[in-house]
Amino acid sequence: MQPFVYDMPAYRVIFGIGSLDRLAEEVKRLDVRRALILSTPEQRSFAEDAALRLGGTAVGIFAKAVMHVPIETARAARELALHLDADCYVAIGGGSTVGLGKAIALESGQPIVAIPTTYAGSEMTPIYGLTEGGIKKTGRDRKVLPRTVLYDPLLTVSLPPQVSGPSGMNALAHCLEGLYAQDGNPLTSLMAAEGIRALARSLPVVVSEPSNVEARSDALYGSWLAGTVLGATSMSIHHKLCHTLGGTFNLPHAEVHTVILPHAAAFNREAAPEAMRVAAEALGVDDAAQGFYDLALRIGAPVALKDIGMTAEGLERAAKLATENPYYNPRRVEYQGVRKLLEDAFDGRRPA
Ligand code: NAD
Repeated sequence: MQPFVYDMPAYRVIFGIGSLDRLAEEVKRLDVRRALILSTPEQRSFAEDAALRLGGTAVGIFAKAVMHVPIETARAARELALHLDADCYVAIGGGSTVGLGKAIALESGQPIVAIPTTYAGSEMTPIYGLTEGGIKKTGRDRKVLPRTVLYDPLLTVSLPPQVSGPSGMNALAHCLEGLYAQDGNPLTSLMAAEGIRALARSLPVVVSEPSNVEARSDALYGSWLAGTVLGATSMSIHHKLCHTLGGTFNLPHAEVHTVILPHAAAFNREAAPEAMRVAAEALGVDDAAQGFYDLALRIGAPVALKDIGMTAEGLERAAKLATENPYYNPRRVEYQGVRKLLEDAFDGRRPA
């Protein structure tokens, strides 16, 4: 048994079909009076439904959340919150909406109730991000961790297959990197393995039968575990590369995770054999890298960077950026190895 530190943040989770019905009760528990509801423009109807359920406690809706939390959006939401004298935020949506809630909580310290509708996992982490002048900065602060999270699989039924698949792969990436994280512990490893199992068995059903509520529940369960692992451990080369590719080359978040995952697993295969063994077993395959690749193909998710907006000219810069500052990874991160990883991902090659 390796020595470890166990320091899991505290939050309340309500999971289950119809758990949205408990929204008013859960907000009341926080002893707040004035909730501002947050969503993306596309999910405004979700926000309106939440407002109806809260009655007089809902003081407004800010339905302008967008990917990567631009500072201007965060400022507009903070101003509205001040104007409305809000003392609580209900973020209903994916990582973009939860991220906006975190940007407000970072300044105000007020509680967030998160209602996730994708598999990104942000609701379980103290990680926040803000984009200013085209540069995304991230940090960790327990203040931004949602106080209560309501997981209702019914809210994910409308998530289209082309969003569900990559979003689930994003969650799988949290699990894999959690398995070889320097600061992992036995509990995060158990959660990561169970998260991989739940996502691997549910995602093919989720994309072929989007309204299958059992599969949706299973996928959301996996994403809860994945988010918990992400929040409790430090990520390595996979997340570093995805951050670079998303931030500098403006590639879509979940799709980048989908494409990079098999190659990050192949990159670390020899250096993290136990993590790969656990991941492969959870996927029900012999090799984790190939298992992730085959799963992506099976669910119709992208497997090549060139198909999601990356240019061949950008590979050199991406490899340099990803190797610039040293960080923990099971295998030493150096330019040639990362360049090879990126080239394989660019072409969408099956990991050898
Ligand atoms: P997203 O929140 O941008 O949602 C993608 C699209 O799907 C949006 O148009 C949204 O309106 C729509 N959508 C969401 N749920 C839906 C549903 N149930 N039905 C129909 N449409 C729905 O995407 P995401 O992948 O969830 O989040 C990505 C963002 O979250 C990125 O900015 C990423 O950096 C961040 N993130 C942060 C963390 C963290 O710990 N801080 C973790 C994961 C992701």
